[in-house]
Amino acid sequence: MINFNRPPFLGTEFDYIRQAVENQKICGDGPFTKQCNEWIEDKTGTAKALLTTSCTHALEMAALLLDIKPGDEVIMPSFTFVSTADAFVLRGAKIVFVDIRPDTMNINEKLIEDAITDKTKAIVPVHYAGVGCEMDTIMDIARRHNLAVVEDAAQGVMSEYKGRALGSIGDYGCYSFHETKNYSMGEGGAILIKDESKIPDAEILREKGTNRSRFLRGQIDKYTWVNYGSSYLPSDMNAAYLWAQLQEADKINNDRLASWQKYHDAFELLEKKGAVRRPIIPDECKHNAHMYYLITESLDTRTKFISYLKENGVMAVFHYVPLHSAEAGQKFGRFHGEDKYTTNLSERLVRLPMFYGLEEKESDLIIEKVCEFFK
Ligand SMILES: *Cc1c(COP(=O)(O)O)cnc(C)c1O
Repeated sequence: MINFNRPPFLGTEFDYIRQAVENQKICGDGPFTKQCNEWIEDKTGTAKALLTTSCTHALEMAALLLDIKPGDEVIMPSFTFVSTADAFVLRGAKIVFVDIRPDTMNINEKLIEDAITDKTKAIVPVHYAGVGCEMDTIMDIARRHNLAVVEDAAQGVMSEYKGRALGSIGDYGCYSFHETKNYSMGEGGAILIKDESKIPDAEILREKGTNRSRFLRGQIDKYTWVNYGSSYLPSDMNAAYLWAQLQEADKINNDRLASWQKYHDAFELLEKKGAVRRPIIPDECKHNAHMYYLITESLDTRTKFISYLKENGVMAVFHYVPLHSAEAGQKFGRFHGEDKYTTNLSERLVRLPMFYGLEEKESDLIIEKVCEFFK
């Protein structure tokens, strides 16, 4: 069976984890965490990056830093993972879902302005499959209405929009290093902070409401409780695993892009015949091959397609159940405008196995079985 995902692993992770153990520094903010933070800052040009225990927690930090309160409204797509909404629901916000674009499956920027009310506080674009949202338009809307922008760039590490790294464009950007993402530490993430003046608050929030970060830098001689906070910092052992991968980020990225392109070329004919629709990458976007999906003709075709692949040793999966149709989505949110594409496309989308180290013979078999099904 070819699994849908295989966690990224290079081999060098063991050496770094051993070093972390030998350093006798396995708690948070040790040397590996620092190296990962700096790597993200260099790569993206953001003022500050801080590793977190997950992307979910990075989103929670952003919601707290923005002081989201009960009654506030936050605009996002319904076609996303639950964490995008949860982080703001935890602060008591109402989620306002808008429809996606049919090409990228990203939030339709043209529908955002109409969903804004006097309660709106933030827009949360999700860069689906590591393909950038129309950020110039979104940032312009946010500026004109005095709203914050939090990028859910969980899938967007190493991707760009008009030459800028995803996650570095909005006020806050959130990365995921979960085992299903391009670069991993098992569970983990990062928050990217654009405005330097927000860094002290973020550090305090992440360190249980204390100024331990300043203490670790030798700026004060003891640390105390200065504000509310939580524990959003990962163990340096996890950061050691991630550091091995960030060092080889180009190698991982190129390997994924090659598998992605192989699929894309192989399915061109199927698309011409009208059997499937392939992913669309806008010219201004550089993607990271986080995902390869196909859009089938109907829900029925998709169901048969997934079981055909499974019978033939290939795990393909679908997602997302649109958040506005879920029990919690109905309780905590509302859909603004018409659901033209969200439900329809979510019922027709299939993701093929895509991971670092997908072998030629594996992708050959997957391609063969996909083409066989649509024959
Ligand atoms: C994976 C993912 C998350 C959650 O990431 P975790 O690190 O598992 O918390 C959030 N949003 C999107 C779009 C994701 O794909």
